[in-house]
Amino acid sequence: MSAQELIQVPATEGRAVTLSAGQAFRVVDVEGKQVADLFAFNATDVGEYHSAMHTRAAVSHLFPKVGEAFVTNRRRPILTLVADDTPAVHDMLIAPCDPERYQGLGVQEWHASCRENLEIAMRELGHDRIAHPASINLFMNIPVATDGSLGWDPAVTAAGDSITLRAEMDTIVVVSACPQDIVPINDRNPTPIAIELLDSD
Ligand SMILES: [Zn+2]
Repeated sequence: MSAQELIQVPATEGRAVTLSAGQAFRVVDVEGKQVADLFAFNATDVGEYHSAMHTRAAVSHLFPKVGEAFVTNRRRPILTLVADDTPAVHDMLIAPCDPERYQGLGVQEWHASCRENLEIAMRELGHDRIAHPASINLFMNIPVATDGSLGWDPAVTAAGDSITLRAEMDTIVVVSACPQDIVPINDRNPTPIAIELLDSD
């Protein structure tokens, strides 16, 4: 599959892209060690969206394997994981960062967040009122210990690592280059993400 169009997601920002059913795309960690929070909505009814808890039930893993699908709150496939050219360390347990998260971490002033990036990107498409689903946290390294405790480790991705997904319905995908710089998930250095739309052949 060759790249058809490239969408740059600047560090700490978000971008939306509308995909037709069957369209594949790649999410690229441009410089490495950068988390991409991904959200997916049914383009014809944004009341249907990717749901992490429904996906975990569908695949019986914490995160889908290659060939498995992410499903919606109506238990329908919305994205399929086509290829994973990373160390395959991703997270689907942790909520996207939001203003309250940064307040809780002691940040006094405004701080960019994945929730605001989601809201801005959807508003630009005319969707003012949306649900706030759990994110698909690509490249995010949250090790789960045998006692159930969670770690907040830097992403292990290298520059150029990517994951390839395919839309299973007409889908709005929002990708946020996570602005988190207080805990070390982005190695305390937020960097850009790229979205490559792929030819379907
Ligand atoms: Zn974030």
